[in-house]
Amino acid sequence: MSDCLFCRIIRGEIPSRKVYEDDYTFAFEDINPQAPTHILIVPKKHIRGLKEAVAEDADVIGRSQLVAAHLARERSIEDGYRTVVNVGPRAGQSVFHLHLHLIGGRSLHWPPG
Ligand code: 5GP
Ligand code: ZN
Repeated sequence: MSDCLFCRIIRGEIPSRKVYEDDYTFAFEDINPQAPTHILIVPKKHIRGLKEAVAEDADVIGRSQLVAAHLARERSIEDGYRTVVNVGPRAGQSVFHLHLHLIGGRSLHWPPG
């Protein structure tokens, strides 16, 4: 989508600190990190959010989780990390292009706020 922030980051029109890319996903450092590791893993296909995803998106959603596991291993945070999808404004979704947060490198509390 031409005016979507994350589509523009994927296209390189807006700079980001990229940490991973493959044919299906793009991952970069969150601009406002909530933990020592805070990476956003984004399907290259524009999907508005999890509740708008359809069956054909299952592959890239699963791939995003595996990219998170790969990056967590690379960052040596496998003793405790979290992958999070905020769905809808009341859960804190502020960018309407599906993305997975990878958060770790500190103790994480439960339940989340
Ligand atoms: P949400 O709140 O939608 O779940 O997550 C959006 C995330 O995108 C937030 O954690 C926010 O800090 C991050 N973000 C917003 N704008 C930018 C940007 O221009 N660059 C980067 N790297 N992250 C951004
Ligand atoms: Zn988009």
